[in-house]
Amino acid sequence: MNKEQKTRVAFTIATIGAALISIFFTVRRRRKQQESPSSSCYSHSEPKPQWTFKRVLADNSYAPFKHLSCNASENGSNLHPFEAEITALLRNDQPEIELSAEKLELKDSYVWVETEMQLKELVNVLSKERVFAVDTEQHSLHSFLGFTALVQISTQQEDYLIDTIALHDSMEILRPVFANPSICKVFHGADNDVLWLQRDFHIYIVNLFDTSKACEVLSKPQKSLAYLLETYCGVITNKLLQREDWRQRPLSAEMVLYARTDAHYLLYIAKCLLLELKQLDNENSCSDDKFHFVLEASRRSNMICLQLFTKEIEASPGESAALSLFSRHQSNQGFPSVSNETQFLYTVRQLCTWRDLMARIHDESLKYVLPDQAIVALASRPLASHAEIFNTIVQIDMNAEIGLSSRIPSPSAVVDSHLSDIHHLLANELVNHGDIYSVILQKCLGQNGSCKLNIFNYALLVNINPRPALSYKHSSLKNPKQHSRKASRNLFVKKFSCKSPVYHNCRIFANDGRLLCYCDRKKLEWYISRDLAKLIEEEPPAIMLLFEPKGRPEDEGNDFYIQSKKNICVGCGEGSHYLRYRIIPSCYRIHFPEHLKSHRSHDIVLLCVDCHEVAHVAAEKYKRKLASEFVIPLYVRKVIHPGQETENPNDEGGVSPLQLRTAAMALLRHGPRMPLDRREELTETVKRYYGGREISEEDLERALQVGMSPHERRKFEKKRGISFKHSMENAAAMPKRENHADSAPSRMSNGDPLNFDTLDGSYANAETTGDNREDSFGKPSLASDLAVDGATSNGNTILVTTTDYDEDSTQAKHNSKLSLLGHGPHGKQVVDHLLKEYGEDGIREFCQRWRQVFVDALKPRFLPAGWDVKHRI
Ligand code: AMP
Ligand code: MN
Ligand code: ZN
Repeated sequence: MNKEQKTRVAFTIATIGAALISIFFTVRRRRKQQESPSSSCYSHSEPKPQWTFKRVLADNSYAPFKHLSCNASENGSNLHPFEAEITALLRNDQPEIELSAEKLELKDSYVWVETEMQLKELVNVLSKERVFAVDTEQHSLHSFLGFTALVQISTQQEDYLIDTIALHDSMEILRPVFANPSICKVFHGADNDVLWLQRDFHIYIVNLFDTSKACEVLSKPQKSLAYLLETYCGVITNKLLQREDWRQRPLSAEMVLYARTDAHYLLYIAKCLLLELKQLDNENSCSDDKFHFVLEASRRSNMICLQLFTKEIEASPGESAALSLFSRHQSNQGFPSVSNETQFLYTVRQLCTWRDLMARIHDESLKYVLPDQAIVALASRPLASHAEIFNTIVQIDMNAEIGLSSRIPSPSAVVDSHLSDIHHLLANELVNHGDIYSVILQKCLGQNGSCKLNIFNYALLVNINPRPALSYKHSSLKNPKQHSRKASRNLFVKKFSCKSPVYHNCRIFANDGRLLCYCDRKKLEWYISRDLAKLIEEEPPAIMLLFEPKGRPEDEGNDFYIQSKKNICVGCGEGSHYLRYRIIPSCYRIHFPEHLKSHRSHDIVLLCVDCHEVAHVAAEKYKRKLASEFVIPLYVRKVIHPGQETENPNDEGGVSPLQLRTAAMALLRHGPRMPLDRREELTETVKRYYGGREISEEDLERALQVGMSPHERRKFEKKRGISFKHSMENAAAMPKRENHADSAPSRMSNGDPLNFDTLDGSYANAETTGDNREDSFGKPSLASDLAVDGATSNGNTILVTTTDYDEDSTQAKHNSKLSLLGHGPHGKQVVDHLLKEYGEDGIREFCQRWRQVFVDALKPRFLPAGWDVKHRI
């Protein structure tokens, strides 16, 4: 054997050996998987782009974020490394901003930067520029903290797209140009970009010109980039693209165009805005204490740079999400839907802790792992089987916002891989083995753990990192059944009250002495530090503006709105905690004519937990009184298909909307695989809706939509094809679950319709974002093709008819918030009745009645002066 042959043989042996070893390990892994089925977590088979990152500044552990250190010391600090440089810019009275960009059309070519060499060349180019424009695109769905997927930089000559996934570990090369105070960086709305660049690359911006801040100073009617692009450049962009998956490579031509457009025109827009600012400065140049426009825009921009990225800190994992979820749930509709409030609260927190940890372990967003609505649904009623849990999540996802991104499978791969955890958690079986945090960490990342260990999650295991406190570990919540009502109250007080003062009592006066508004201390200090105002009173502080403000509040002839408000419970004066309370329940208020809805600050007051409870109970009681007074049922007990109703409404006809929907859903999804008796039982339920006649597949599909508000239905339909497709895929891939479906007890379909009250996001949305809600595409929402015919109620049976909205779009629009799964048409019917019988005075009087109910129940002693039961809108 010559040398070459020897080498070849040796190589062959080595190859065979390696292959054998590899087979050995594969077999061993398979065996292990069979022993513990949980080791089949999807994280082993679905690689993520961020796993190629070698260094990660913000991992998913609970350790605080370390900023770039400004001096030679090793430890990262929590100070801004360029604070001195930025402060120097803020102090400069004559900022030199030079922008001379011409408007240039997009060229055909751009530079795609994906190697370190190319990045270094870019730095070379940029360091010779006086100004360049920047924008970033993020990915946040399949990542816990989100990461920068693309950075766009435009000079007057060229558009650069930096592949920040490929170059993640090299991006530090850009730090010097971004921190160079003599190079101006133009952004639009840099608030987030500033933090994202710190989080991913320790890139800090010094010398920023933010075109959105310039718009603010110029009091432009709008300050969106889309508006500026259209106004100054005649370019229309499709902002929907910002929600694309920016991890994909190559980017589609459309995405490249969007990304370039976001940065390309900024230099020209900035120049135009700067000219306008300068012009205003020249016009005002004679007055003494003038408002300096250029200076102001520059200061506001550089103030943004002083912000520091931080990881959110919470008392224990998932705590803040649980609190916000619970208080949203609570302030929205109160508790009528939850039979055991303590158990509900407990389960919500357990699920939130689980979700938080799972999102960190798998590097996924919370909303991907398990959406809020699914947590509420799971916690609202006892669920026994895997199938019930699975179905509940799928059902919720079908309605929820998460469906916007129709690629999201439901339930998520995380839930899919770890369904048994949720099962144990709901059965209170996880905590019996120690606290949930350690149990899950061990199961997932411990020895023989089920999930993949990676750069984002491994610090969770390392003890040097602060381990989050589990505040309820030792509390009586450990056993919810022993948890007393009093303890629940105390928990409430501690957890659900507003975290900071709701009202700030700093006053701002105009230079003629008229009170303009109230504000917080920060705003007040801001004016003073810029010599825009002088302090005229110490405690409570008041300032007088030194310039003429743009607008003045309308003189309402009512001093309530400039009334000083105290941060105390208006009932008993308690000052240590308070919650917002809506005196006019949302189920009515959302149906008021628009102009009667303004001035709501009068009818939202602060209450301590105890007074809140008293007021809430009184309000629920009064709703029932109204229901009988107007003979308008509060809840829809039964629905029946039009034309199928019998003479006697008390006979077997009709079915609860929730029961109907769950039965139809189960039949459509699992029908063929169900045991016969179960299938017949469910079919009977659906038949009751159709007056007992035989039903077809199409009838099932229609039944699924009964009770949805048109808003819900529109979303549902948009998604239906996809969701059903997914459900088929999931069903095929998960034979285990089918067995559970077989044994699904009927409890699920006996749900109290009230349970869905709070799952109907439309009420909450209407209250928080106003009634001109926009749909997911930014267009005003249009009702769908089915509308609830609320007028035909017969006792507790509501007839559901279909109305084409083209024929009757006004009615459909009015009904767009109606969901039979919540309070149903009650609120709208009451408001319609009042308007019809008494006109707008009827509404005013109705509001007064509610204020009276509130006053009678609470006898509040601390209502602000000017508050009045008879307050007129
Ligand atoms: P933009 O510069 O406006 O394209 O936005 C930058 C990044 O912010 C996008 O890549 C998205 O990740 C995120 N983003 C901004 N607005 C939204 C939105 N309405 N929905 C989802 N993501 C958004
Ligand atoms: Mn962008
Ligand atoms: Zn896993």
